[in-house]
Amino acid sequence: DNAQPKKPAWIRVRAPGGAGYRDTHRIMRQHGLSTVCEEAGCPNVGECWSHGHATMMIMGEICTRGCTFCNVATGRPEALDMFEPGRVADAVAKLGLKHVVITSVDRDDLEDGGAEHFAQTIRAVRRRAPETTIEILTPDFLKCAPSALETVVAEKPDVFNHNLETVPGLYPEVRPGARYFHSLRLLQRVKEISPAMFTKSGIMVGLGEDRSAVHQVMDDLRAADVDFLTIGQYLQPTPKHHAVAEFITPEAFRAYEKAAYGKGFLMVSATPLTRSSYHAGEDFARLRAV
Ligand code: SF4
Ligand code: SF4
Repeated sequence: DNAQPKKPAWIRVRAPGGAGYRDTHRIMRQHGLSTVCEEAGCPNVGECWSHGHATMMIMGEICTRGCTFCNVATGRPEALDMFEPGRVADAVAKLGLKHVVITSVDRDDLEDGGAEHFAQTIRAVRRRAPETTIEILTPDFLKCAPSALETVVAEKPDVFNHNLETVPGLYPEVRPGARYFHSLRLLQRVKEISPAMFTKSGIMVGLGEDRSAVHQVMDDLRAADVDFLTIGQYLQPTPKHHAVAEFITPEAFRAYEKAAYGKGFLMVSATPLTRSSYHAGEDFARLRAV
């Protein structure tokens, strides 16, 4: 698409390869697990997987939503696999992870949105790898009873992450099917139910948002008592997906980071290649050491 801005030099990625990368790949395949790293075509896969950091995507590879930035297939998902929580736990143990990020597709077809499956997965990882800290990146449970969220929070993941993805004005074209204030309220409820739990959210930039709208999102997240924030450059996975409106400069990312710390976030990652799960373990370990 000629209308797309040219990819700048600062969007550089390391080609995947090396022994660590291959080990991670093998463990994922052997356990029949999907990763968002592959599904999203994440630019950091070479770096993350060389350290065994893969973000597992549970509940299948087909999503009931169709966010216009996302490369995951939309359709009717398969039935839940009751053995998946055990396989995730085994893979976490084999990878020897200090911190694991577990996410899922959206399951509007299930009454609880997959909350019980999330809960089982957290329990299985706790049993098999009790030292591993657990970060979950959940869907919004939009059509579920309040008990769905409570089911997940009751398992006490170390970090509860739910991404706002973009500024409210772009929801209709970027995240149709989701509601900005519902997602914000979800994060706030996590804190209300479990005040000691860390909450986290993130957005992509370069989708056509105004800087002032990004600052508004930060304020909204702080008002919901959210602790951690990630901001990364949106990259178009295929020409059919939402166009990149702009490549945000590293300086502008630094300005976002500074502003976010000023607003009181405990941990901020704002760089072109930041993803929700990028360096999540290192950042969390550093925070706990303080
Ligand atoms: Fe996977 Fe996240 Fe790393 Fe991307 S940043 S490769 S999604 S762990
Ligand atoms: Fe992709 Fe998540 Fe949107 Fe589904 S809900 S299309 S997995 S971003």
